[in-house]
Amino acid sequence: MAGNETKRPISPGAEDELGRTHKVLDKGEVELVDYVGDDRTVARAARTSYQGSDGKSEEADLRLITRLWNDRHTSPFEMVGVTFRIRLPIFVMRQHVRHRTASLNEWSFRYTECPELFYVPDHDDVRSQSKTNKQVGEGRLDEDAASKARTLIDGMNHHAYTTYRQLLELGVAREQARVVLPVSAYTQIVWSMDMRNLLHYFSLRLAPDAQKEIRDYAKVMAVIVKKGWPLIWKAFAEGNEAARNI
Ligand SMILES: Cc1cc2nc3c(=O)[nH]c(=O)nc-3n(C[C@H](O)[C@H](O)[C@H](O)COP(=O)(O)OP(=O)(O)OC[C@H]3O[C@@H](n4cnc5c(N)ncnc54)[C@H](O)[C@@H]3O)c2cc1C
Repeated sequence: MAGNETKRPISPGAEDELGRTHKVLDKGEVELVDYVGDDRTVARAARTSYQGSDGKSEEADLRLITRLWNDRHTSPFEMVGVTFRIRLPIFVMRQHVRHRTASLNEWSFRYTECPELFYVPDHDDVRSQSKTNKQVGEGRLDEDAASKARTLIDGMNHHAYTTYRQLLELGVAREQARVVLPVSAYTQIVWSMDMRNLLHYFSLRLAPDAQKEIRDYAKVMAVIVKKGWPLIWKAFAEGNEAARNI
């Protein structure tokens, strides 16, 4: 077999996404780095269950995939795998990592020094605390307060990083010097999930009650999945309003 030829199922949309970096928040990134299987992988796996034949039309595949998802016959969706590189602030990572069905590897600040990459919300994105829902922020803070908040966050980031550098210069081990890093520091992961659990992730993290910052990451990944697996996305979005807006 010559060059990049392969006998594996290829998704043209996913191929186009491989290696393409999407920006999220102020310094975050999402990139599709690998995948296994296309839309037909799900249909093919399901047809195996009842010894049906392969090679049906796209419409037949969509009908089947939609029925599988609606009936919660979800195991065929586990045949598709998606791997992203994600650069995200630690406070978003703490929410992201709760999705236990992913496999991941993270930057280690034991092996390497932490880069000076810290999250500061956009001016328009400094939210006030909701008075009715303890969990969420809602509405924009007024101009003056938002400017002051950004200055405070930026100053704290700078102070923390300066202290981190000073600890390293004193000879403190990287694994200990990092204790002064705030949750606004960016980390990076390679994050791999099967499609069943990724759609579950989207159902939780595209929802309006998810924190805006993790929703921003979920939206970017959703755009990639919609492009790479259009039939799966269509089937999922049929029953999910947030997904229909992607
Ligand atoms: C809006 C929102 C608010 C949240 N607030 C909080 C909070 O205040 N505090 C907090 O600690 N967390 C919070 N979470 C995290 C939440 O509790 C879940 O840990 C997270 O959403 C991952 O969901 P999951 O377990 O379904 O996903 P995954 O871990 O990806 O699991 C997928 C599915 O696999 C199955 N599964 C996985 N592990 C097990 C297991 N051990 N036993 C049985 N079945 C399993 C379940 O069916 C599960 O739905 C919040 C999440 C959201 C979306």
